[in-house]
Amino acid sequence: MPDIVSIAINVPLQRIFDYEWHGEQPLHVGMRVRVPFGNSKKIGIVWSSTASPAPDMSLKPITEVLDETPLLAEPDMALLHFAATYYRHPPGEVAAAALPAVLREGRDAAIRDILWRITPAGDQALAGNLLTRARRQQALLRYLAANPEGVSRQMLERDVSGWQAAARRTQERGFSETCEREATADYASTTPAQPPLSLNSEQAHALAAVLAGDGKFGVHLLDGVTGSGKTEVYLQAILQQLAAGKQTLVLVPEIGLTPQLAQRFERRLGVRIALLHSELSDSQRARAWLAAAKGDAPVIVGTRSAVFVPLANPGLIIVDEEHDASLKQHEGFRYHARDLAVWRARRLAVPIVLGSATPSLETLFNAQQSRYQHLQLTQRAGGAQPPRMQVIDLNRFNVDAGISQPAIDTMRAHLQAGQQVLVYLNRRGFAPTVICTECATMAECHQCDARLTLHAGKQRLQCHHCGARYPVIQHCAQCQAPVKLLGNGTERVDSTLSALFPDYPLLRIDSDTTQARGSMTSALDAARDGNVRILVGTQMLAKGHHLPDVTLVVVLDADQGFFSSDFRASERLAQTIVQVAGRAGRAEKPGEVLIQSHFPTHPLLTTLLDSGYSAFAAELMSERSKTGWPPFSHIAVLHAAARDGDAALEFLSGIQRTLHAQGIRALGPAPAAMHRRQGRYRYQLLLQTRSRGALQSALAQLTALLEQQRPQRGVRWSLDVDPLSSF
Ligand code: ADP
Ligand code: ZN
Repeated sequence: MPDIVSIAINVPLQRIFDYEWHGEQPLHVGMRVRVPFGNSKKIGIVWSSTASPAPDMSLKPITEVLDETPLLAEPDMALLHFAATYYRHPPGEVAAAALPAVLREGRDAAIRDILWRITPAGDQALAGNLLTRARRQQALLRYLAANPEGVSRQMLERDVSGWQAAARRTQERGFSETCEREATADYASTTPAQPPLSLNSEQAHALAAVLAGDGKFGVHLLDGVTGSGKTEVYLQAILQQLAAGKQTLVLVPEIGLTPQLAQRFERRLGVRIALLHSELSDSQRARAWLAAAKGDAPVIVGTRSAVFVPLANPGLIIVDEEHDASLKQHEGFRYHARDLAVWRARRLAVPIVLGSATPSLETLFNAQQSRYQHLQLTQRAGGAQPPRMQVIDLNRFNVDAGISQPAIDTMRAHLQAGQQVLVYLNRRGFAPTVICTECATMAECHQCDARLTLHAGKQRLQCHHCGARYPVIQHCAQCQAPVKLLGNGTERVDSTLSALFPDYPLLRIDSDTTQARGSMTSALDAARDGNVRILVGTQMLAKGHHLPDVTLVVVLDADQGFFSSDFRASERLAQTIVQVAGRAGRAEKPGEVLIQSHFPTHPLLTTLLDSGYSAFAAELMSERSKTGWPPFSHIAVLHAAARDGDAALEFLSGIQRTLHAQGIRALGPAPAAMHRRQGRYRYQLLLQTRSRGALQSALAQLTALLEQQRPQRGVRWSLDVDPLSSF
């Protein structure tokens, strides 16, 4: 009897596929296989082995088994099963999200290093002084001769300048050769460069609480003001894991944060950190992933997809900046890495720490319900003072590129005192609106309900929603009158401040200036090296970075978010203000924060500034309990979009009627906040329930429906469970 197994294949279908296996090798869940699929072959993962197909069905055989042992162990597979069910997402796509590209494509799970060696002919050439006129080649061969066991690319990069050309040339001449060797994991411990700090009493209490369960499951909310030493608590908890031979997985929201965090961790922990994020090459990622799976890497730091990385000896999970929306994937497989991390910690029976200076209301609610332990760090660590916050009433002052006179004066004072200043505006480009001086027509995207932003450097208009580019205009398309610019983006702030403060080097950090791979890291290094005096940036610059010389933060526009239709807008606004303000005065120098607003007495702003984030969150919580939005309910959104808007609307209405007949109430269909995007009209249907269980059973019925009720051609739908983005 052949084995029958179900395979998850990377196709957008809500199902798994049964195959037969006739081979000798035992087949286990979590192994990769190659199978015939349609007219081609595909790589899949053995999802489960208990399939019993319909008796009259003839199954195709598996072509090849790619792994000797499962690539994903039982608890890792359990996480994928859970995620596929919870988010109602095709299992094959879930499995694909868990694997690094190299392994997804079916390549060998053993990573090999290429080594360079000298040949006997090379030895002779050196001895016979044949290379005195080819200095680089000679230097390379000397280096290879001194390391007869072979030399890695990293060693060559470090020690031999111009090695690449020299290696090519000497290889052509038969003086050197390359060979392959199975890569050895290089995460060995060294002596930590720096000893642990002695913790203050709040930190010590938090650390003790995390370690108290003696490795048992527990969720700990580490709620600490910016600069309160949360990272120090993480570090000391990780040290305990290292001593016990256990691994720690650390999730961070931004790629930009990983190199900095990893450096700090390496200095303090004395081990090499395995990094998992999208700025790495495919092979670097695969190495780190396999090292984690084998248990060679003791500490893994990664962005959201790292939540799936297999761990041979898990001891602790940490989610830094747990409130951050980029922990949730916003398209395709829309999972929340923090929520999956909590599920995973429970399954692995290890403690998990959720750290933030501005916890999400969901997490605070769980803490209030005693599902999570609430640990607070109320003081900045090491004697740093909290920054002084002040609101500038934009109705009272003249502005230049959105910068008020008092802000300019304060900037000048800080700059003259030799300090660094950070100016925050979450809008890139030069100006967000190009408007006619006569008829007030605004330049808009042809594909979206959106205005075009002028990018002065690139000399074009750009839609920030679909990426479309248009030529710059001087005259209105409707009435030919001249146009003018309204509003400000970081590019305009950059040019205005450069003109105002020509003697102080300015660095702008936004997604326009950091497109190249690795440029975010080098920009942050430049921001810290002391030469740059003025930093202008979007939210990329606001998060978690330690910028010790910054003493003044100017928030140019606090009003984005006051009047949004999204029920999360004010939570997000407060988090951003607190996070960006937290960049000020993190070292010995006291910090100052200026917040510009047209609504200086807005109750949200005054609560936040007078009483802090906790008080603000408490007010927001009571508001949510009245409106019934999460965390007081559980929601999912079914999106549909089509060039023919009526088709999308009809599709959702049909779904809604059927759900209704089954006793499930769905709200809508309503047009999305941005109704037209990339030429498609968008609608959505909202499911809202009191309990998570009720939402899950409604979703089970909904997905069954979606299998049957195929939409009309041209209608695309997607489902977002626990959505974070706007309605
Ligand atoms: P957070 O992660 O909460 O923003 P960090 O862990 O980065 O805070 O700490 C902020 C600063 O305070 C860092 O420079 C850190 O070295 C220092 N620090 C943290 N804990 C202590 C302590 N117990 N004693 C002295 N300095 C500390
Ligand atoms: Zn557009």
